Amino acid sequence: PLNPIGHQIQQHASQRADQPAIIDEEGTVSWGALIDRVNRIANRLREAGLEPGEAVAAVSENSADYVALYLGTLVAGGCMVPLSGMASANALALMLEDCEARFLFVSPKNAELLSTLRSQLTTLDDSRILALRGNGDGIGACLPDWLDGVSAIPAPAAVTLDAPFNIIYSSGTTGTPKGILHDYRFRQRQILRMSRFGLDGDAINLVSTPLYSNTTLVSVLPTLFYGGTLVLMAKFNAHRFLELSEQHRVTHAMLVPVQYQRILAEPDFDRFDLSSYSLKLCTSAPLRAEVIADAMARWPGNIREVYGLTEGGISTCLDCAAHPDKWESVGTPTEGAEVRVIDEAGRELGQGEIGEIVGRAISMMRGYINRPEQTEEMLWTSPEGEIFYRSGDMGRIDEDGFVYILDRRKDMIISGGFNIYAVDLEKVLLAHPAVADAAVIGIPSEHWGETPLGLVVRRPGYTDSVADILDWANERLGKSQRLATLEFRNDLPRSTIGKVLKRELRAPYWDRHA
Ligand code: ATP
Repeated sequence: PLNPIGHQIQQHASQRADQPAIIDEEGTVSWGALIDRVNRIANRLREAGLEPGEAVAAVSENSADYVALYLGTLVAGGCMVPLSGMASANALALMLEDCEARFLFVSPKNAELLSTLRSQLTTLDDSRILALRGNGDGIGACLPDWLDGVSAIPAPAAVTLDAPFNIIYSSGTTGTPKGILHDYRFRQRQILRMSRFGLDGDAINLVSTPLYSNTTLVSVLPTLFYGGTLVLMAKFNAHRFLELSEQHRVTHAMLVPVQYQRILAEPDFDRFDLSSYSLKLCTSAPLRAEVIADAMARWPGNIREVYGLTEGGISTCLDCAAHPDKWESVGTPTEGAEVRVIDEAGRELGQGEIGEIVGRAISMMRGYINRPEQTEEMLWTSPEGEIFYRSGDMGRIDEDGFVYILDRRKDMIISGGFNIYAVDLEKVLLAHPAVADAAVIGIPSEHWGETPLGLVVRRPGYTDSVADILDWANERLGKSQRLATLEFRNDLPRSTIGKVLKRELRAPYWDRHA
């Protein structure tokens, strides 16, 4: 069998040799140079003993070298494991052992993290820990030296569609990281689906989220597969994002909601020429209708909001230009996907009823590695005997088939027997002129079991008190939804992909209680 990615990308080396493949902070890498490097990495990994399906891990910020390593691993028939440098040394050691990584590549910025983590590794040989760039200080041999004298002749390993492509560790916003295994079939189908959104050989895709997140890969892989151009940011900065967009005539970007807010809030946003944009994508957390309205008015090109899980299986998409009346929703199921809603007992609910979202799609993970029980727990069987994935999200489907996400099941607040969805309360708080950011969590209450607490970041220059904002919000909320109180914060903790870390916000209140 051919290697669907490994073979496909080889043709870019001849067909678009001089065209830019990747523009990162160090410069531009042409397709010719990228594929040359990819093949050398692949050949070297195999010489060094990498067997088909074995894991190659990396801890690095976005860079052309990182993308080359990713593709090189695939060409060699290996399985890429992109890891977050924001994770603790302990967590990283667990992940590296869990996936039985055979090689680990680390960027110089993560050398210190590696030094703490190294002693905890029992199976990974020290000689197989390498520096992705730089001089290798504190890490080991560096990639360019390691590739010295290695052939660039393409020899993609044969793989089947069932072969492992990558393992992505869930960010752990809801618990211990689990290794989500994707195979070639999953990625190929996802790539085809994204090509319908115009992510093809003409795309200039500005990437500002980290490569270890599936959100990023969903847009990066089609761009590489079809021979487009990636513009990589190692670290997101709203102003820099706008500069790069204008400078490189960017056509596509996948952004998480908080990034939209920051970009649109840039004081000189309107001075930038963004006319090259055709499509922006958004996923990973709710994108508020106000933000969509602002972006649709001031930022050329359409927005598609995507709802999904790294595990796959569930997927919806909202075409914002086509459905201005549905901006509160995450759209309708994408091709080959189906979504239903179930209650706690696993019974299917009717249209408009609130319950857990379950779904199935043509692209599903192979499972959580080494965790068959947790893989099993994620499944729901329909009355017809079809297997669905449980999302862990509460939501509903309207009369036109549009899906609405209310909250994660674990974040839902149960107060005096009523279910309170933080999103409803957050929406109201965010509509207050003094509120820049807000999150609502459940805290212990003698009387109600749980009660909602609002955490608010005030806009600079506003002096509204807790009571001012609390009264204002409670006037607009239903009786059973009212906030017990508010606290001001300087900022809200977010994951590297921009999700508010509610578990972290909740912990001190519940610890105190216990
Ligand atoms: P963990 O499961 O450990 O928290 P994670 O948050 O990184 O990890 P992902 O698979 O990246 O897991 O995220 C999937 C979740 O993100 C969904 O279950 C949903 O809660 C949320 N989500 C994704 N897209 C949207 C969207 N468009 N609107 C609202 N929520 C979304």
